[in-house]
Amino acid sequence: MKILLILPQGAIYRKSGSFKKSLRYAPVALTTLAGLVPQELNAEIRIVDEGVEELDFNTEADLVGITAITGSAPRAYHIAQRFRARGVPVVMGGVHATLMPGEAAKYVDTVVTGFAEESWPRLLRDFKQNKMERLYTQSPHLSLANLPIARRDLLKKEAYITTNSMQATRGCINNCDFCVIPVAWGRRMYFRPVEEVVKEAAELPGKALLFVDPSPIENVEYAKSLFRALIPLKKKWVGLATTKITKDPELLDLATKSGCKGLLIGFESVTQETLRLANKRFNSVNDYSEMVKKLHARGIAIMGCFVFGFDNDDKDVFQRTVEFVDRIRIDLPRYAVLTPFPGTPLYKKLKSEGRILKDNRWSLFDAQHVVFKPAKMTPEELQEGHYWAWRQSYTAGSIFKRLAGSRCLLQVLVPANVGYREYARALPGYTEEVLTEGTWIDVNEPVGGLEGRL
Ligand code: SF4
Repeated sequence: MKILLILPQGAIYRKSGSFKKSLRYAPVALTTLAGLVPQELNAEIRIVDEGVEELDFNTEADLVGITAITGSAPRAYHIAQRFRARGVPVVMGGVHATLMPGEAAKYVDTVVTGFAEESWPRLLRDFKQNKMERLYTQSPHLSLANLPIARRDLLKKEAYITTNSMQATRGCINNCDFCVIPVAWGRRMYFRPVEEVVKEAAELPGKALLFVDPSPIENVEYAKSLFRALIPLKKKWVGLATTKITKDPELLDLATKSGCKGLLIGFESVTQETLRLANKRFNSVNDYSEMVKKLHARGIAIMGCFVFGFDNDDKDVFQRTVEFVDRIRIDLPRYAVLTPFPGTPLYKKLKSEGRILKDNRWSLFDAQHVVFKPAKMTPEELQEGHYWAWRQSYTAGSIFKRLAGSRCLLQVLVPANVGYREYARALPGYTEEVLTEGTWIDVNEPVGGLEGRL
């Protein structure tokens, strides 16, 4: 059996786009799915990440599996249509199919919702016996114990800054108003046994690790035991965490001792009232500067994420945020436009207020394009302000100001800053026309809407 696993990418992130190798780590979904293919099927598996290679629509396959986020869903539907036209059945999973299974079912043969550890092997065995069903849902008894190791051997290794991406946990217990994670997977976390995570980490080549978990520290006891167990490996790792990491001195010390060298943190806004409205009350703007100092003092670099377009944001928000980022010295700032992903509380609110301008135009739901009517500025002002903030934070002067005197991960941060500088310059070129090229767009039949939920 020949299985082709595809990670579709929106135009910006495709190989031909503007996202450089210095910013690109190996994705975990496809290698995890490849690892889960039952041995007895003797399958020949190929992985194509459109971020690093062109997809050949004539690739031989008995079954195609696609995983997509909302922004890449129309590309996924286009790919599905091309393979199905050749008689190759297509399965789709991932966050968008989980949020919108009814919509996905219109474009593919089979939809997989939720985490696929149990359902994907079952689907493959059914396929082998010609009895593949239309929908596979997450097992209510999902366990992350005894998982097979991800098939990193199938990746184009040279195309990524690291292929040592891994996961210890899944999900998040928080409920930020704009986030798809609690909507798609519920407000809960799943944990791999610490000894299995550490065994996998120990077996990976080299010293670097990348944890892609949304925030493993939400369960403090689990995170502490994981960090303790990582210390003897003497590896260096980067990962994601909420601002809570600096509130527990023991947790922060253990993270440091375990080799933490960089964290992606969602600061989201420099206005406390905005954080309250977004249901991210545990972030405290007054603490941001001190937090950054604490992390820098431990040699931990910060990729800080900020969002524009909250109802409280006026036209000054861009300048205030950029100045704040420079002042507190965020090593690698990343800006997003507030995006009402389907199913989120934010989507429901904006939909009920008639403020979603580009509903169903999922290619634009990439967190870099305005798809709704903001409260205190026009959509054009929000879009232009967003582009301006990106450009401004990646001027040579701003990069120098933020990194001067830093002793954190400079060998990674300098090329990453240069990579984002190019990205910032290229972003305005990704118009609606460019973003929707090579995607499934039928203007008479918009793809989706919440009625697409099963
Ligand atoms: S803390 Fe992060 S992952 Fe968790 S709900 Fe909020 S934005 Fe999502």
